[in-house]
Amino acid sequence: MKYWNSLRWWVAVAASFFAGGFVATAQVDVAALSQETQRVAQGPNAMTMAWWMPEDFWAVTFAASPKAKAGEAEAALKAIRRYTVVAVLDGTPGASGAVSYRSGDELRQIMRLTDAWGNSYAPIAENEVDPAMKAMIQTMKPSLASTLGPLGQNLHFFLFPARNDAGDPIADARARGRFSVAVGKTELKWRLPVDALLPAKSCDECKQECKGSWKYCPWCGTKLAEK
Ligand SMILES: [Zn+2]
Repeated sequence: MKYWNSLRWWVAVAASFFAGGFVATAQVDVAALSQETQRVAQGPNAMTMAWWMPEDFWAVTFAASPKAKAGEAEAALKAIRRYTVVAVLDGTPGASGAVSYRSGDELRQIMRLTDAWGNSYAPIAENEVDPAMKAMIQTMKPSLASTLGPLGQNLHFFLFPARNDAGDPIADARARGRFSVAVGKTELKWRLPVDALLPAKSCDECKQECKGSWKYCPWCGTKLAEK
């Protein structure tokens, strides 16, 4: 049980780390964005966490960081746009309560991303990744490891293409869509758009606040206007 508690702690800390550790732009709630883009699958003997980090996430964390030099942010975002970035943590608690984590190499072998059209992708080989993207991940890693301890050290980053062969975006955080990531037999799914990135709507009928991705008001059933 200790293990699951530590996971919940992790998610909370990760959210606050990104909310507090970097300068966030006024429009985006980084904690909400972090939470909404993380998926956790808990089985009796294992736990898998996958964190899709959309361009907006990098934009409000790395690129908005005061440490980023002028011009660096735009170059960084250009590199990010070429990829769908997913960070994964996969652990199995042992009898003593100690958790054994899968290595990055092990994860790489068993991971696949499937887009909305049914195309499946293996993680892009490290030697084929844009050096600017690699550098950014290297910048992120030590802060994760020092803030989150073993959990941060065992979080591995994987890159998939940003677009399918036809040129359609695989994971556009602001448009309707879906994709999934399989880690071995565990499948984690995302439905888009991400509410944290959309302006909230207000129901014309009952005036309740509704999430940006909603088509109908859940309280009175009125069709919501598109923004
Ligand atoms: Zn309503």
